[in-house]
Amino acid sequence: MTAAPATLDRIRHHLVGLRMPRALEVLEHLLRQLERGEISALEAIDGLLDAELSLREGRRVKAALKMGRLLTVKTLAGFDFAFQPSLDRNRILTLAGLDFISRHEVVHFLGQPGCGKTHLAIALAVEAVQAGRSVYFTTLAELVGSLAKAEREGTLRERIRFLCRPQLLVVDEIGYLPVVAGGGNLFFQLVNARYERGAMILTSNRGFAEWGEVFGDTVVATALLDRLLHHAIVVRIEGASYRLRRHADLLPDTSSARPIASPEPPRRRGRPPKLRTADLSAAT
Ligand code: ADP
Ligand code: MG
Repeated sequence: MTAAPATLDRIRHHLVGLRMPRALEVLEHLLRQLERGEISALEAIDGLLDAELSLREGRRVKAALKMGRLLTVKTLAGFDFAFQPSLDRNRILTLAGLDFISRHEVVHFLGQPGCGKTHLAIALAVEAVQAGRSVYFTTLAELVGSLAKAEREGTLRERIRFLCRPQLLVVDEIGYLPVVAGGGNLFFQLVNARYERGAMILTSNRGFAEWGEVFGDTVVATALLDRLLHHAIVVRIEGASYRLRRHADLLPDTSSARPIASPEPPRRRGRPPKLRTADLSAAT
């Protein structure tokens, strides 16, 4: 079956008018398959639309990753679960179902440097983008810096509103750098604004008991943990650094030995007075 040249011209014209460049590209190929009887007319239409849709989908994802500042792409497929036997693969795959985003929950990845916290946080964020959710990725230092700048410029309210927009906010690297004075307070304002309204993924190399130190303020740390451990999913990665996996023999013993404090509420060093154990037990 051969399409009349006039009809074919019209189809091409329409595809140009509808801005469907990818469909236009695959048109000839699909027609040849059709003529050879390899595909049906319905399959040809399907192939045409599918080609165009994948192009658009790819562009949408690319733009959303850029907007969300996910500049290095990591995937769950690229994560070697065999290297982290303490990590429950099914738990991570359940997170990839993204229900935690609909439920406005907070996911904590805790573990030593190099154990894959950022990789997993980005991989889940990429899953979210592919599923059409809005995402924003930042480190705590960048975030606090941007909030402090906004405060100086009198635009803190707008900045917090901007950071409340994405359905998933990833805050990476809590605990690597000391938070500047007043930073804990600014972070709290954001966390409070997003509380029960938007999901977050946080990564940290420090246990919750150390947050008073991280934020240089136990009162703020307690208030932060109060929000961030309610409706929380705490994933502790006990394993060693993936970066240093071939050089373990060169490292001092401490490199993989220091355990991350348990997610139980800080009881040491004047930690937050009341810990909500009920919330924690829900936070599996
Ligand atoms: P962290 O944030 O915990 O310090 P990263 O997630 O940045 O660690 O991991 C360090 C590097 O090792 C990254 O390039 C990451 O992609 C890689 N990596 C970590 N764990 C794994 C793993 N289990 N499988 C594959 N790559 C991993
Ligand atoms: Mg990291």
